[in-house]
Amino acid sequence: MQYQGVLRKMQTEIGSPIQYFLIFDNDFIQVNQLLDKEITLKFVKYQCLACGENKKIFRQGYCYDDFYKQPDVGDWIMRPELSQAHLGIEDRDLEYEKKVQLQPHIVYLANSSNVKVGVTRKTQVPTRWIDQGAHEAIEIVEVPNRYLAGITEVALKEHVADKTNWRKMLKNEIEDEDLKVQREQLKEFIPEEAKEYFIASNEETTLEFPVLKYPEKVKSLNLEKTPEYTGVLKGVKGQYLIFDDNTVFNVRNSEGYVVDLMIK
Ligand SMILES: [Zn+2]
Repeated sequence: MQYQGVLRKMQTEIGSPIQYFLIFDNDFIQVNQLLDKEITLKFVKYQCLACGENKKIFRQGYCYDDFYKQPDVGDWIMRPELSQAHLGIEDRDLEYEKKVQLQPHIVYLANSSNVKVGVTRKTQVPTRWIDQGAHEAIEIVEVPNRYLAGITEVALKEHVADKTNWRKMLKNEIEDEDLKVQREQLKEFIPEEAKEYFIASNEETTLEFPVLKYPEKVKSLNLEKTPEYTGVLKGVKGQYLIFDDNTVFNVRNSEGYVVDLMIK
């Protein structure tokens, strides 16, 4: 079987295990069904997710020019505390920013290699946790906009990590933590403006990834340096494909690349 398409982050569906899908223009590939199969990935060209041109991808699937123009990659994405749509202040496109920022957001704890605090739109639960490769997560507050989530995250970052180690996540060097206890300990550090939004229920979500064999060490595949790669797929975790020879491929970091995907 051979497919061709532009890579975008894999779509997911919660389940045991989680189901992954690659969506190409004309094809819909169930990645779980490729486990234990030999697959070849071949770089064809770039296709910027905004302008569609064959221009080198700078970040998040966009060429350099579009990365600094598109409203969905403004600074407030990575730093939610910079959100200003609730004040009616535009960053790149106020209508877009209102739509995305002025909706319920969750501040959560997720454990992928260590426990970290993060922010996501409520509609992105549990997608966000799956994309991070978290094996467990818990919600802390549900606030009505992104700004409140951002200032809550900034305050909690003083007491818990906001970064994870993706190599440890992929090697499955993980520990189960009692997130309920950590959530209670963090409660007092929630900023005044967000305290009323503390979520009463303390239900922990656990996530099960489709992995037959974890890598012992991690070799990252970069299709710009290695335009063609063949390997036997052994798992999917976060947005990574994991192969038999310890190679890992971050699909999300390769957005905007047109690839040939061959399955033996
Ligand atoms: Zn472009």
